Amino acid sequence: MIPGLPTLVSNISFVFSRGDSYLGRMVSDIAEIMANCRRCVVLTGAGMSAESGVPTFRGKDGLWRKFRAEELATMEAFLDNSKIVWEWYNWRRDLMSKVQPNSGHHAIRELETLCDNFVLITQNVDNLHRVAGTQSILELHGNIHHNKCVDCNKPCESSLSIDPDNIPTCEHCGGKIRPDVVWFGEMLDPVVINQAFQESEQADIFFSVGTSAIIYPAASLPPLAKRSGATLVEVNVEETPISFLADFQVREKSGEFLPRLVAALKGKTEPG
Ligand SMILES: [Zn+2]
Repeated sequence: MIPGLPTLVSNISFVFSRGDSYLGRMVSDIAEIMANCRRCVVLTGAGMSAESGVPTFRGKDGLWRKFRAEELATMEAFLDNSKIVWEWYNWRRDLMSKVQPNSGHHAIRELETLCDNFVLITQNVDNLHRVAGTQSILELHGNIHHNKCVDCNKPCESSLSIDPDNIPTCEHCGGKIRPDVVWFGEMLDPVVINQAFQESEQADIFFSVGTSAIIYPAASLPPLAKRSGATLVEVNVEETPISFLADFQVREKSGEFLPRLVAALKGKTEPG
């Protein structure tokens, strides 16, 4: 392959790699398409969080004491030993509260202000999109800073740090408070995932950002958007199983690409 030239993947899909001079043209091509879009949907995954330095809590790097995430992030673990599960979540919340949104998170917030209809769908639980100020968010896997009742599922207002020896209870039913995240073996909230499907179906342009596109049902959203007529833009440093579907494959960090796109869009919408 000749360096700097886009790789022709299909008759409509181009791969742009880091540092190549086509990136600027692609940014303006996407901005041009967005000028005629009414509905913009962005899906984000772990790659975005990684750019902010959020720890993964999976694999051997994610070990806490002697436990793996898969042993603690389950209903069985909570029913068995809610104290140790809360100790783990307190530790994770503390770590995550020290992490800041990156330029990609801020660019997504700006995209929201520039689009008529904008929805962010995220698989990340780290709350960074909210910290960046994005308003319209569907959190597929919940939010690690939020709490809910283990029995009736109602959201519970309570402090971020839970006393593991004295876990607060639900004001509606008396059930124990748990973190409002989707645990291993649990279904996603049907209201949230159905809305995500609906938004994806109606999108004019769909960005799949920093997601490996292997975790379902989130991985089915970009193909759904594409089938429904959206322009599909993938922003990910590595190829994924949905790359071949993308109209634009951006092999860049979101924190580098998205601010450029926002700047191009502003150039179109601001006078002078
Ligand atoms: Zn309850």
